[in-house]
Amino acid sequence: MSRIIVWFRNDLRLHDNELLQKCIDKGAEILPVFCFDIRQFQNNFLGFPKTDSFRTRFLIESVRDLKTNLQKIGGNLLVCVGNPENIIPDLALKYKIKSVLISAEVTQEEINTENIIEQKLLENKIELNKFWQSTLYHIQDLSYPIKNLPDVFTQFRKGAEALVKVRKTFVSPTKISLIPAIENWGNIPSEQDLGIFPIQTNQKQALNFKGGETAGKDRLADYLWNTNHISNYKETRNELLGENYSSKFSAWLALGCLSPRYIYEEIIKYEKEKIKNDSTYWLIFELIWRDYFRFVAKKYGNKIFQLEGIKPKPNLKWNENKIWFEQWKNGNTGIPFIDANMRELNQTGFMSNRGRQNVASFLTKDLKINWTWGAAYFESKLIDYDVCSNWGNWIYIAGVGNDPREDRYFNILVQGKRYDEKGKYIKYWLPELEKVNDKFIHLLQLDMFQQKEFGVNIGKNYPNPMINPMKWER
Ligand SMILES: Cc1cc2nc3c(=O)[nH]c(=O)nc-3n(C[C@H](O)[C@H](O)[C@H](O)COP(=O)(O)OP(=O)(O)OC[C@H]3O[C@@H](n4cnc5c(N)ncnc54)[C@H](O)[C@@H]3O)c2cc1C
Repeated sequence: MSRIIVWFRNDLRLHDNELLQKCIDKGAEILPVFCFDIRQFQNNFLGFPKTDSFRTRFLIESVRDLKTNLQKIGGNLLVCVGNPENIIPDLALKYKIKSVLISAEVTQEEINTENIIEQKLLENKIELNKFWQSTLYHIQDLSYPIKNLPDVFTQFRKGAEALVKVRKTFVSPTKISLIPAIENWGNIPSEQDLGIFPIQTNQKQALNFKGGETAGKDRLADYLWNTNHISNYKETRNELLGENYSSKFSAWLALGCLSPRYIYEEIIKYEKEKIKNDSTYWLIFELIWRDYFRFVAKKYGNKIFQLEGIKPKPNLKWNENKIWFEQWKNGNTGIPFIDANMRELNQTGFMSNRGRQNVASFLTKDLKINWTWGAAYFESKLIDYDVCSNWGNWIYIAGVGNDPREDRYFNILVQGKRYDEKGKYIKYWLPELEKVNDKFIHLLQLDMFQQKEFGVNIGKNYPNPMINPMKWER
């Protein structure tokens, strides 16, 4: 009987998992493995952890859930901490494995690791087989090679919608055969074991994000079937507060606890059984954005991480003012709409899409700070960090990505007033501004008497604005 390692990475699920299906089809004995790659928890070039507390906890929970779900079908999960390029080949040799199956990734760090492993495996005549699993549309179903991917999203979307059929999901296996005689299944590490400081759950968070396929499926059932919030998604998706203005599927999608094809099938079912409208379509539309950024990363490789992006603009000058960056990072810019969003990120690991667009625009277009710093900070903090969606959106906002508009600019004052008219969101995250009259909350131009009246002391308990917000009035 052949023996196969299924090396889980960003595909932490049983449903719609081609790797498991392949093993079952072959009647193979399986060794499921997850490896906490220690480099992912070390400090990045700016001195903060590449993966900070929120995502570390979510990942640990997701791995635990995967292990439990595998155990329920006669399997298990071998968990290790270290460098996969040593661990995977060693395991393959030790247990006389014939092939190692993985989901294909598109970015350099992952590919480098894969290449080293592939080389080591080949020396022992063991295969490494990759399967494309992360998108709604399968890369092989696109009607062009990836180098011809359109640089404008709409063109990509229209082509895909017209020509590509979303493939059916693979059913969750009900039984798998493990390879016998594994002595040690390893322990799931804690945050501290990975060198990450664990933080308390903030009761103000938008949603109680719990890692794993089980919680991901529960969230999907809630958002669609139990509450029908999906039927208003298009109207609510730009809001800022609460559990249900948007799906919050992102964190589960990022680690593969939810498959985009599974979400798609559920939406189609919902449309048949309940209601089909612009909102149900719009969630699929957003999933196509997610696909797009993955394909962009595949097309452009490392360019998405570089300052020039995929659309170099020699006239763009970036600064590296560390003090300004700290102010942005900590939510101390003195611009309430920006600070509220950054404090939500810092305290919960989540921020709405509207918030992300505004804080990214403020950093890159108003402060003109090296955008890769902002992207790296998001990488550290976001609970739903996804390498392609994050860096792809950052180059887009910074003006060196796929935005067909040359001079897109977010007027923070206009945005704040439009999406947080009465400052409810601002006051939620900046309690020091709680008593400020709604009509002053965005500009915060207050004389001494008003400051006294509203219990705020600008420059003392809330910072002076870093830039003159009156520029947005003009
Ligand atoms: C600067 C910046 C950085 C971002 N970084 C990330 C990231 O690291 N990980 C991430 O998943 N998303 C990222 N996004 C995209 C988007 O903000 C989040 O996907 C979304 O806010 C997550 O909330 P939700 O699941 O409730 O989204 P919903 O509005 O419910 O959307 C459903 C799903 O569609 C996908 N989606 C929606 N908008 C986008 C988008 N603009 N780009 C790609 N996919 C999208 C997500 O998978 C999302 O879960 C970023 C956006 C910006 C502007």
